Amino acid sequence: MLVLGMMLCGCSQTQNDTSSKTEVSVQSEVSGESKEESKLPEPESRDVFAMDTYMVLKAYGSNAKKALEEAETEIQRLENLFSVKVPTSDISKINANSGNPVTVNASTRTAIAKALEVGDMTDGALDITVYPIVREWGFTTGDSETEPYYKIPDQWLLDWHLGNVGYDKIIINESIVTVPTQFEIDLGAVAKGYATDAVNEILEANHINSALINLGGNVYALGRKPDKSKWKVGIQNPADTNKMICTLAIENKAVITSGNYERVFELDGKKYWHIIDPKTGYPADNGIISATVIGDSGLDCDALSTALFVMGTEKAIEFCKAHKDIDAVLVTKDMKIYITDCLESIITMEDGLKYEVIKR
Ligand code: ADP
Ligand code: MG
Repeated sequence: MLVLGMMLCGCSQTQNDTSSKTEVSVQSEVSGESKEESKLPEPESRDVFAMDTYMVLKAYGSNAKKALEEAETEIQRLENLFSVKVPTSDISKINANSGNPVTVNASTRTAIAKALEVGDMTDGALDITVYPIVREWGFTTGDSETEPYYKIPDQWLLDWHLGNVGYDKIIINESIVTVPTQFEIDLGAVAKGYATDAVNEILEANHINSALINLGGNVYALGRKPDKSKWKVGIQNPADTNKMICTLAIENKAVITSGNYERVFELDGKKYWHIIDPKTGYPADNGIISATVIGDSGLDCDALSTALFVMGTEKAIEFCKAHKDIDAVLVTKDMKIYITDCLESIITMEDGLKYEVIKR
């Protein structure tokens, strides 16, 4: 019953989750079970487990079955290019050949280039070279489920790895990527966003004009529901993931969230999560516990939601003020909710929750 869940949308829309992410409660779902929605025709539906998360693809239309089959194949192709756990992936090749040029697929190039661009835009909040630190904490995708080894790394180890962090030292020359010796990268912060756009392209190529794709909380709402109403996409309450903080009425947009509840462990009463502050090597703890970005491109939204989370409350609000084309919902540790002005007309809050508007 929940639909959970970036950017470059301006105000146009106002005018007219195997890590712990495998928990169903952490997943976003379509609001397809409400009474109102039960009147809708049954969509073609496909469940996919990939990129360490459960994905649910729902589409309407005569080509829906074929389109979803193609979408699943594409998701598997991307996983095989991006995953640090697939030894033959482009990313594994880059990491095994640090210091040397590696030729990569066009998709890999695009995803890395976007990560570097957003790294620049966000003063290095997004930095795909933090991977060795992510691994040191035990947050490598999936391993935590089968071989738990979460730990607080020794400070000397973090300091040593921090010496090998710096997205700006990655060189991309056409399809050739070179990272400095000792550097390693991972695309965890952008992979599902890239996949979101790729699936969307496939659906559109198959003339699907009504679909809701949910790649583990990375949602894209294509067109409208068959009854012509907008899709309702909910944002989970980071303090109680069985609840939502709000729903957004969405059409042709991605809604992508980075939260402190997705992959997390607790030690001595303190929680540690999988989004790392590249400045400290510790889980980013700068006031934000959930950052959602809404926009046309899943890739942009995924990259930015991770970056806003790392930036923290003040910098993220400043960033939203300076980028009128980015729409976001930010939730802080003390449960303050900030939304960008363009979202006011499409947001419905839960349980009397209030928000503050970031005006541009
Ligand atoms: P999720 O994968 O849960 O959707 P994100 O999109 O925010 O969440 O990506 C988090 C993942 O990105 C981490 O699991 C890790 O692999 C990687 N990562 C963590 N911190 C950073 C960072 N500061 N910059 C880039 N990638 C990061
Ligand atoms: Mg992200």
